Amino acid sequence: MKLIFLGPPGAGKGTQAARIAAAQGIAHISTGDMLRAEIRAGSDLGKAAKAVIDRGELVSDDIIVAMVEKRIAMEDCKQGFLFDGFPRTVAQADALSGITPIDLVVNIDVPSQRLIGRISGRRMCPDCGAAYHISTHASDSCDSCGGKLYQRDDDKAETVANRVRVYEEQTQPLIDYYQSRGQLATVNGDDDIDAVTAAIQEVLKV
Ligand code: AMP
Repeated sequence: MKLIFLGPPGAGKGTQAARIAAAQGIAHISTGDMLRAEIRAGSDLGKAAKAVIDRGELVSDDIIVAMVEKRIAMEDCKQGFLFDGFPRTVAQADALSGITPIDLVVNIDVPSQRLIGRISGRRMCPDCGAAYHISTHASDSCDSCGGKLYQRDDDKAETVANRVRVYEEQTQPLIDYYQSRGQLATVNGDDDIDAVTAAIQEVLKV
């Protein structure tokens, strides 16, 4: 199965993508995680991407598409994959359509007034990528692997509003893009984590 998860920053895409990819036995491909790994490795790509990411803007389509094309050729993608955070522009979606067909696009819908609070309270595990919210997770270590949680630089207040604006301008048009191609299913993301996972499992059965 080949899936795309769409949704604004803070919708819970990464959390749901990790669960659904594991349940389906497919690869979880987060372009954000791939870029953060490049930054940690100190590569040229990581150095160039860091400033863009910290401003809440998007890395160029050419770089992202090349990165994704290479990734889906890997062995663990043979059974399928789930894109989390890709495509983010119509140009990326057009490029993707020339690379591989997609079975379904799941749009995780969360009202925009809820996003800032969800993102600014988010803490991440640097080792396994798990995300937590300070309102439900008091400890500063990861339940899954024990990693020490941190706040992403681009989750800080000064960047968050820009990320939501960039989403609305550049990524939200993909909802209509995939809807008009009959590929979109929307689930309510403004619910507890298990309920959202169950709603996604339902749309995958259809
Ligand atoms: P994410 O972890 O998906 O929120 O991504 C973090 C940041 O990485 C984004 O705000 C962008 O700057 C960059 N990024 C991730 N995926 C993409 C993409 N598909 N296209 C352009 N930039 C991206």
